[in-house]
Amino acid sequence: MSSPLLEIDGLRMHFSLRRSSLFRAPPTIHAVNGVSLTVLEGETLAVVGESGCGKTTLGRAIVGLLPLASGRIRFRGLDLAAASRAQLKAARRAVQMVFQDPFSSLDPRMTVADIIAEPLVIHRMGSVPEHRARARQLIELVGLPVDSLGLYPHQFSGGQRQRIAIARALGPMPDLIIADEPLSSLDVSVQSQILNLLADLRDREHLSYLLISHDLGVVHHLADRVAIMYLGHLVEIGGPEDIFDRPSHPYTQALLRAIPRIGQGKRRTGGGLKGDIPSPIQLPEGCAFHPRCPKAQALCRQSAPTLDAAPGRSGHLAACHFKD
Ligand code: SF4
Repeated sequence: MSSPLLEIDGLRMHFSLRRSSLFRAPPTIHAVNGVSLTVLEGETLAVVGESGCGKTTLGRAIVGLLPLASGRIRFRGLDLAAASRAQLKAARRAVQMVFQDPFSSLDPRMTVADIIAEPLVIHRMGSVPEHRARARQLIELVGLPVDSLGLYPHQFSGGQRQRIAIARALGPMPDLIIADEPLSSLDVSVQSQILNLLADLRDREHLSYLLISHDLGVVHHLADRVAIMYLGHLVEIGGPEDIFDRPSHPYTQALLRAIPRIGQGKRRTGGGLKGDIPSPIQLPEGCAFHPRCPKAQALCRQSAPTLDAAPGRSGHLAACHFKD
């Protein structure tokens, strides 16, 4: 069995907004509320949920872009909060991020060669000639011609830019790539090309992925396990066959109903869920999903369910008092 690469334990992330009155405490956004999960060596774990569920905040916390309120992040067993500077630097090199929007994540004033070499310069990996050689190797690895290296981001399509962003992330030879909605700004026809590229690179470069997406449909073919987030909580986690064939949590069931099927026309937004996602400033009492849940009962308003095994299924966990 593969060993744990990344372990997240009880992660909470809260952000204070500006005070609206001298006499009131500043409101707090509860973006991530006690999330625990593990990414194994060589695994692709997809984290899926609606916009505002905390999945992007979670990804940014892992790469150190945002501070934690509480909880632990361990990389290869090393607690990042207790790590020395050198250990933290090594962990930062080993975890790279691909951002959602390849139009804003690439510096328009830099050539592709400089963009790909940038993380190598930051991590002081190799000489200038070695950076150039690595850029040539990586641009071919992501399926672009070597003469792309002298061009600028505006000279490429969205899919090509995402390939460049992936090449940049691969530069420092990471073990884990956090891909935050890597497909959402791309045309459907290009999305499958990038998914295939990610799958190919995972096998060739022995990578693990934390794949963040709002769309269950796009993670289906790449994910080894799928974690569903709602309002900063992990509500279900399991293998693709658990999540897609036997979803246990009512929210996952609603997300699945929102995936369009061939011949069924346009997708239904929210899969028939009632109402909007509640404010992360005032979380509902009890189960966070109860205001929108078609199965909610009195218990759901009083008591928050814990994430535990769905009936008869080890490794398939759901946080629901009345899980299927
Ligand atoms: Fe719905 Fe209750 Fe389950 Fe929450 S605990 S998902 S409200 S049935």
